[in-house]
Amino acid sequence: MFDLSLTETAAALRARTFSSEELTRESFQRIARLNPALNAMITPAEESALAAARAADARIAAGDAVALTGIPLLHKDIFCTRGLRTSCGSRMLDNFIAPYDATVVTRLAEAGMVTLGKANMDEFAMGSSNETSFYGPVKNPWDLERVPGGSSGGSAAAVAAGLVPAATGTDTGGSIRQPAALCGITGLKPTYGRVSRWGMIAFASSLDQAGPMARSAADAALLLQAMAGFDPRDSTSVDQPVPDYFSGLGQALRGLRVGLPKEYFGEGLDPAVARVLEGAIEEYRRLGVEFVEISLPNSGLVVPVYYVVAPAECSSNLSRFDGVRYGYRADSPVDLEDLYTRSRGEGFGAEVKRRIMTGTYALSAGYYDAYYLKAQQLRRLIRDDFQRVFEDVDLIASPTAPSTAFRLGEKQQDPVAMYLSDIYTIAANLAGLPALSHPAGFADGLPVGLQLIGPHFDEGRLLNVAHAYQQVTDWHLRRPPETAIADGV
Ligand code: GLN
Repeated sequence: MFDLSLTETAAALRARTFSSEELTRESFQRIARLNPALNAMITPAEESALAAARAADARIAAGDAVALTGIPLLHKDIFCTRGLRTSCGSRMLDNFIAPYDATVVTRLAEAGMVTLGKANMDEFAMGSSNETSFYGPVKNPWDLERVPGGSSGGSAAAVAAGLVPAATGTDTGGSIRQPAALCGITGLKPTYGRVSRWGMIAFASSLDQAGPMARSAADAALLLQAMAGFDPRDSTSVDQPVPDYFSGLGQALRGLRVGLPKEYFGEGLDPAVARVLEGAIEEYRRLGVEFVEISLPNSGLVVPVYYVVAPAECSSNLSRFDGVRYGYRADSPVDLEDLYTRSRGEGFGAEVKRRIMTGTYALSAGYYDAYYLKAQQLRRLIRDDFQRVFEDVDLIASPTAPSTAFRLGEKQQDPVAMYLSDIYTIAANLAGLPALSHPAGFADGLPVGLQLIGPHFDEGRLLNVAHAYQQVTDWHLRRPPETAIADGV
């Protein structure tokens, strides 16, 4: 029941091997056994899940089901869910119950998916290890002493441990791909504008994008199909038809030209990760892919540019949390100033404050041109690097993260070391490009991810390529040891 792909689960539901209600009940039992050690799910929604499961069963019985009907799902707690707490991993929104559903939530519910609850995440999606969550860190199911990656670490750990077969994530600088890599699952950040951001709590609006997290590329294709598409409520949503990602799978890779950026395979990459990736590249060669070395000369600018742009946008987005409208409010303020400063001072954690301060500085009069404007100019150069490369190659392949999962606490005191975990993922956000991470093997017993980056709106090709690889390898089918998790509390 918990080892099936989404299509296999859908077939079993249709064949009445088990019902969605049974699957939902069993999933909650599994969550009760494994989640205490993982801390991947923070807000369960058992009652509404069982109601949705019964509705799905009725729909299946009526012959009115689509591919995802009756299949359990977790939402990253950044997506607003009507009637169910949306905390964004923060104390600030610990008491927040949204009056509406995010578009992504609505679309997956309309497809008949059953939301089991909300997944833990870094506070306001700022982090690469899930250690900034107000609800405590998530543990990596492959080794409970290690981080799952972040900020969608709860989603990644939950899928890897089989609590759910699918979860939503968001990616501003790598938060779908990096935890997917560290937990051994498949995650896709779509093209900016492909999936609606409406109802998704904003971190850095020009970079944020929602996407699917699942075991395989085929599963991710089914999920993206339901998530993607124009939404008039999101002004940056793009009005372009959504291709049939799932039926697009299965095309041969012969003749595909893939670029390997030399800047992504040099200093800073763990040699054990590099060795695993060499093996994956060999496998792709056997499938007929041609690899060429390419250069993305502005790669050294990616992290510094991101850490101006993202904090600048977050300082503006997070100004709405003032203790007045919703969210955390400090006790007995003496005046309005005191209400603002203490509500924000007590409601936000250290990393979020660091971002708000640097962002406010970068946007302030006198520094705007030197920092924010300059960062935007450099962002253009980074984008141009990709445009030039895509005149010659179809896709780019690279490591997703420079190392495997690191130890809890290892980088917590060193923000720059933490920021460097996203060194290979951030450029795709700055350029708005789609990028996917898929399992590519193991180094010292820990999963390694390979990243594929494509031209705008080429999600279908990314999924097809990863799917072809997953037809000849079984890394995506490996499971972390369950008893170690259950005993790990
Ligand atoms: N780790 C990066 C950051 O902290 C990216 C986070 C994300 O993609 N949401 O900003």
